[in-house]
Amino acid sequence: MAQGKFRVQKTEAEWKRILAPASFAVLRQEATEKPYSSPLNDEHRKGVFMCGGCAAAGVRWPLYSSATKFDSHTGWPSFYQPINAKAVVASVDNKLVLQVRTAISCANCGGHLGHVFNDGPPPTGLRYCMNGLALTFQPA
Ligand SMILES: [Zn+2]
Repeated sequence: MAQGKFRVQKTEAEWKRILAPASFAVLRQEATEKPYSSPLNDEHRKGVFMCGGCAAAGVRWPLYSSATKFDSHTGWPSFYQPINAKAVVASVDNKLVLQVRTAISCANCGGHLGHVFNDGPPPTGLRYCMNGLALTFQPA
């Protein structure tokens, strides 16, 4: 989990009150949703994917544009870059014994969103592998 001060600050009890249990598990406890379980996998409209934690707190925080979404065939909504450099923060995730991963969190509330990998498409070569439960889609 990303550490530090975030503009949206809540206790874990407060997050539990405003988030659905499955979203709480992802955003606040770094759970990973089952692949192909998110309706956002098949969301192909133009729009903006926002942080679901911020949204629950009444704050609009854009994370990804639909223009950078691609089908990674992994079962998770995937993007090749965040909507801007300050939208998300990266941190080292050592939870897996054999693979050090880079976790991605919301820069505004610190909520866990997913991970980033180096096997994405051009132009960045990155794959931001996101949990749909951590996102809210706003059509253009
Ligand atoms: Zn957030």
